[in-house]
Amino acid sequence: MQSTVDFKKLAVTGVQALHPYQPGKPIEELERELGISNILKLASNENPLGASPNAQAAIAAALKTLELYPDGSGYQLKAAIADKFGLQNAQITLGNGSNDVLELIARAFLDNSRAAVFSEYAFAVYPIVIQAVGAELRVAKANPPEHDTMPYGHNLANIAAKITDNTRVVFIANPNNPTGTWLSKADLHAFLQRVPSDVIVVIDEAYTEYVNDPTFPNALAWLAEFPNLIVTRTFSKIYGLAGLRVGYAASGADIADMLNRVRQPFNVNSLALAAAQAALGDEAFLQQSVATNAAGLQQWFAACAENGWEYIPTVGNFITVNMKRPAAPLYDALLREGVIVRPIGGYGLPQHLRITIGTETQNDRCIKALQKVLSA
Ligand SMILES: *Cc1c(COP(=O)(O)O)cnc(C)c1O
Repeated sequence: MQSTVDFKKLAVTGVQALHPYQPGKPIEELERELGISNILKLASNENPLGASPNAQAAIAAALKTLELYPDGSGYQLKAAIADKFGLQNAQITLGNGSNDVLELIARAFLDNSRAAVFSEYAFAVYPIVIQAVGAELRVAKANPPEHDTMPYGHNLANIAAKITDNTRVVFIANPNNPTGTWLSKADLHAFLQRVPSDVIVVIDEAYTEYVNDPTFPNALAWLAEFPNLIVTRTFSKIYGLAGLRVGYAASGADIADMLNRVRQPFNVNSLALAAAQAALGDEAFLQQSVATNAAGLQQWFAACAENGWEYIPTVGNFITVNMKRPAAPLYDALLREGVIVRPIGGYGLPQHLRITIGTETQNDRCIKALQKVLSA
C-alpha cells in the first residue's frame, strides 16, 4: 500500500540531509549484473592475503558456543590489545568495526548545539556520524592539488582555524582514506598541543600498520600526554577481518567510560572477538602483509611512472590515481574487464580512481586493464 506520509519529513533534521555511505561494489553484485566470473576486487582496501590462519582456527573453536552471548565487556580482546600496546583495559572501547566507534564518539560528545571539524577529502564516515546526531559539519580546506609535498593532504592550520567554542570533536585520518596522504609526527604533535583541552581529537589510524617508517607518528604513544585524544584502529584492513566487523578506540579511561555508556552491550560478536584476539598475535602474518603491500606500492609507483599516471602520495594499502578525465566511464569500463576499483566523485575527486594494492598478479592485471580502457 502506498503511504501518504512523507517519512523524510518525519526523520530528524540531520538524517534528512544525509547521503548514505557508498561502499565498494561487491563481487557477487558484479557477477549478477554482467554475468561474468573471475572478478578482481580492489575497491575496499581489503587484505589480498586473506586473514591470519590463527584467526580462522579461533573462529572454528568459537563456533562451538554460538548459543552463548559474547562477553559484553570483551575482556580478553581488550587485554590482548592493552598488552600489545602498553595500555589498560579501561582505556579500550571495542566496536563493530571502527565505524561503530566513530559513531559512539559522535553520540557521546555531539548534538545539535555542537560542531565537529574534519578535512576536505577525509573519510566519508565522519560527516555521516556527525550529521546523524544533528551536529554542525565544519570542513577544513585540504592542501591544494599543486602543493609541493602533500597535495590533497589534511592541512592542520586550516583545521585549527575551524575550531571555535562550540567545537567538541575533530576527526583526523592518518594516513587518510581516500587520498593516502599523511601527517608527520612533529606537525601532528604540535597540533595536539595547540588544540583546547576540551576539544576531543580523534586520530583514525585504520592503515597505520602498513606504514613501514619508524618516524611515522603512533598516536597511541601520546595518550598519556593528551587526555582529549582518541585513537581508533581496525581489524578490517591489515588483519584481513573486514567481514567480521571489529575495531577499537584507545583513549583515557574517562573518555572510554563515556563511549561505553552509549555502546550496545553485545556490539562485537563472539567470532569477531576470538578472531581479532588471535589475529593480533600473528606477527608473521602481519609482517607478510606489510611486505606484500610495500612491494605492491613499488609496483604501482613504477607502473604510474611508466604510463605517465599521476597519483596522490600514499603510505596506505591503496593508491589514488588522477586519470585527468572523468573517472566514472573508466570505472565502468574496468568493471567490464572484471576489475572493481573505487570511483571517488562523492569526495569531490571525480577524475580520480582509488585502487587497493593487491598481490603482484592482481596489480599486474589491474594495471593492464587500466592501460586497455585508457587506450580504448
Ligand atoms: C576502512 C577504514 C576504517 C575501518 O572501518 P571498519 O569499520 O573498522 O571496517 C576506518 N577509517 C578509515 C579512514 C578507513 O578507511
